[in-house]
Amino acid sequence: MDEPGTSGKIRLLDKETISRISAGEVVERPASVVKELVENALDAGAGRIEVEITSKGGGITGIRVTDDGCGMTPRDAELACVRHATSKIASIEDLSRVGSLGFRGEALASIAAVSRLTLTTRAGKESLAGIRVRYEGGDLVLREECGCPPGTTVEVQDLFFNTPVRKKFMRSLAAEMAYMTGTMERVVLSHPGVSFRVLHNRRTLISSPGGTVRDAALHLFGTECEKSLVPVLFSGHHARVEGVISRPSFSRQNLYQIFISVNGRPVLSRPLSLAVREGYGTLLPADRFPVAVLDITLDSSLVDVNVHPTKRDVRIAREREVRDEVSLAVRSALESEILIPEVENAARIARQSPLVEPSPAPAYDLVSPPAGMVSEPEEHAFSERRRIGHQAELEVQEDAAESTGGAFLPDMEVLGQLDSTYVLASFRGGEDLVLVDQHASHERVLYDRLIAGDKAQPQSQELLVPVVLDLSPSEASIVPDLVPALGEVGFDIEEFGGGSYAVRAVPVVLGRQVDPVGVRELLSAILSSGEKAGPSRIDAIRKMVACRGAIKAGTPLTREQCRTLLTELRQTAHPFSCPHGRPTMVIFRKKDLDGLFLRT
Ligand code: ADP
Ligand code: MG
Repeated sequence: MDEPGTSGKIRLLDKETISRISAGEVVERPASVVKELVENALDAGAGRIEVEITSKGGGITGIRVTDDGCGMTPRDAELACVRHATSKIASIEDLSRVGSLGFRGEALASIAAVSRLTLTTRAGKESLAGIRVRYEGGDLVLREECGCPPGTTVEVQDLFFNTPVRKKFMRSLAAEMAYMTGTMERVVLSHPGVSFRVLHNRRTLISSPGGTVRDAALHLFGTECEKSLVPVLFSGHHARVEGVISRPSFSRQNLYQIFISVNGRPVLSRPLSLAVREGYGTLLPADRFPVAVLDITLDSSLVDVNVHPTKRDVRIAREREVRDEVSLAVRSALESEILIPEVENAARIARQSPLVEPSPAPAYDLVSPPAGMVSEPEEHAFSERRRIGHQAELEVQEDAAESTGGAFLPDMEVLGQLDSTYVLASFRGGEDLVLVDQHASHERVLYDRLIAGDKAQPQSQELLVPVVLDLSPSEASIVPDLVPALGEVGFDIEEFGGGSYAVRAVPVVLGRQVDPVGVRELLSAILSSGEKAGPSRIDAIRKMVACRGAIKAGTPLTREQCRTLLTELRQTAHPFSCPHGRPTMVIFRKKDLDGLFLRT
């Protein structure tokens, strides 16, 4: 047996194993050095990790990572920077159940080869003294005993000093720092229980004291984001999905804030990120993405970590099924939450959405409504009824109020209609004011009906008199290609000859009294939409039909019609947004209203 303090855990991998692990360059840039050193600290079981970056004259000059992990014995400290020396696996078989982030025994050797690296370490109780080793361009230049606290500090200076070509490929300081903070965000979110501090020239960039994922998100992204998060906890057939996702009212322009780890290992996987986005469906506008931090636990036999030398990619067997389960996990989490945007958020969604004009300070619109604007809808509505003739009728259902459904939207009471555009309502037994956009809500109702109809059979109604379309040659040339998709949604179109087409039937959701001008307009909009054949084209048609069929803003409704609309909305799968992702309703909390009236 070795003397105390000289025994160790690190071994050299055998040739067979070396030849089978995915080899390649891991030290591409300063951010990859940070990533490798921090992963080593995590593998060492650290509870606190500090990363200090120094820069001078526009370039990174030093990287220091300090941890309070298990440290190394003097013998291990000397082996650590030898290529293929690792304590994490002994043979290739171990790879299938590797729980550590590292396993190739190459990072320290690769970094030491292209920098001046100093490793100072002490293995807790086992070693009385610490040891310091220093390498320059891969050569050992110093080995000394030293006093130091248990744990490890690795300091890397003059990165790429002996590889000028690689140095030339470094980008600006700002770009390298952005890579580095991006890397650290992923690490922090995948290990929220660990305390992290990242400093740049002594300035704190990241400080996450260790806690839950929510706490980590709070420290990285601020309170507004944290408040929008809802928990995800889902056990599927293949995957267990756990973490947090943002409500639709808090979204981003791209998918870079979807953080995914697989079995605790942060991965960059576009398919998995898109699966998260897919869980939101039409709850978000097409060009918006959520914030999400999700850990996916899979049986280790389904995951191959040995794909890429930087280990940022993993290969997943049954990826299709896993993706579906991720989408389902997200959808279920959203469905179990009340997703109505509160006033502030709704205004933001409206501003984010390219489809609507920005609306200024909505909370104040209610302070003093012009006289007569909030109307009791009953009387005048009847005289105006003709105006909604060409739209789908909102038929009054006797038992509307009793119908169930609306899994997560509480029952609402109609208070009135504002400017013939919004239905004013309150939750039954509640005190908050809800403003419902009648057009957006009806669009949602019709869209869901089109999808439901589709599953059974397109709900189509024949026209008494076919609508004849005289099309330009270019329009006419697209029609044959579009006919199947139009058929799926409920149109029946027949060629007449000479560039003319007859529309014999239209989707039921367009209403009973179909107006020929409307049908022509709708079809020409569909023809010019340029959507490629496939499911997305059918969906685009459905959205256009729902929009055309829905009651317009500026249409007076009777109280019964308002009630029917709300009941139907409750029965849809996603009552909080229209198919284009705009909000259907906005909630004014009683406490905020009280605030406006200074009633505190
Ligand atoms: P790998 O992480 O793939 O094993 P590395 O080159 O990154 O390869 O590290 C080599 C070995 O050095 C590790 O297996 C581990 O035993 C030891 N080591 C590296 N960093 C630390 C640290 N911060 N704390 C304790 N041990 C470490
Ligand atoms: Mg490592």
